[in-house]
Amino acid sequence: MTATAEKTKIRLPQHLSHSQCSSLQFCSWRYVLEKGLHVPQQPSWATVGGSGIHYATEVWDNWTLNGVWETDRGQIEKLFHDQFDKAIAEREQQEPDFPKESWRASGRASKQWPNKEDESWWRAEGPAMVMSWVTWRTNNSQWEIAMFGDQPGIELECNPVIGGQPVKQFIDRAFTNPEQTDILLVDIKSGRAPDSQQQIGSYGLGLLETFGVEARWGSYWLARTGGTTAFEDMRLWPRERLDDIYRKAQLQRELGLFLPKESNMCSGCSVKDACFAVGGVNSDLYPTPWQIEVEIKSPPVPLD
Ligand code: SF4
Repeated sequence: MTATAEKTKIRLPQHLSHSQCSSLQFCSWRYVLEKGLHVPQQPSWATVGGSGIHYATEVWDNWTLNGVWETDRGQIEKLFHDQFDKAIAEREQQEPDFPKESWRASGRASKQWPNKEDESWWRAEGPAMVMSWVTWRTNNSQWEIAMFGDQPGIELECNPVIGGQPVKQFIDRAFTNPEQTDILLVDIKSGRAPDSQQQIGSYGLGLLETFGVEARWGSYWLARTGGTTAFEDMRLWPRERLDDIYRKAQLQRELGLFLPKESNMCSGCSVKDACFAVGGVNSDLYPTPWQIEVEIKSPPVPLD
């Protein structure tokens, strides 16, 4: 594409989410490539494996609602493999141009795992991660799955308006103590611990707006360590703080303030082949930041 070419109109999603906000904060050009230009993304085993962990722990927690606390290792192993297979099939359907042999493996190569964290690695390590969840739940049974009407706090859908933007959230888990006085929100992470508590903080507002219930604590549960991060006091995430973040993310989208951020993360970027900044092999098929015009799918909700 040349500098004199007509501008390419791109449509961005109406709904904001935590992952969109954080993507805008990290590399906003990647956000455009993914959400506006819909560049086919080379799947990663980290994402697919993470889905397998999420699905398996979700199934297991639903069993506990019926009084079944399955601890048999063989059953847990089967549970993970079934859910991992499901995650693989979904990804193959979403990205038919990328056979699974081409999916990216993260981590470091070692003597035992020369191909890094690929399918074999996940099949070997995934069941232990699910077993860690089982152990954590069993050792912390004072935290029960919270109920919101007839909805259990498992993959709980919330739809708050933050910073004037409709936001979609799925809270991995909402627990309550036996006295039902405290709510603990937990997000399950199969990779490293996030640098920021923003995601869990925004879930507190989501719960409050959707169900009228205030969460006291938030935390990430880390599949690789089998424990949680320090509990975050949700009072550190008042509405004003989150409104400010989301409002600025929306302004960034409306004004088209998108720039590539080159860093050591580029090598693991799923759209690097389409990125002009790193000389991606397919980058001539896509416009640059100065060649796009932004349209947001529908107008935001007016602020009070
Ligand atoms: S390759 Fe780097 S600069 Fe380009 S979109 Fe990906 S993260 Fe951003």
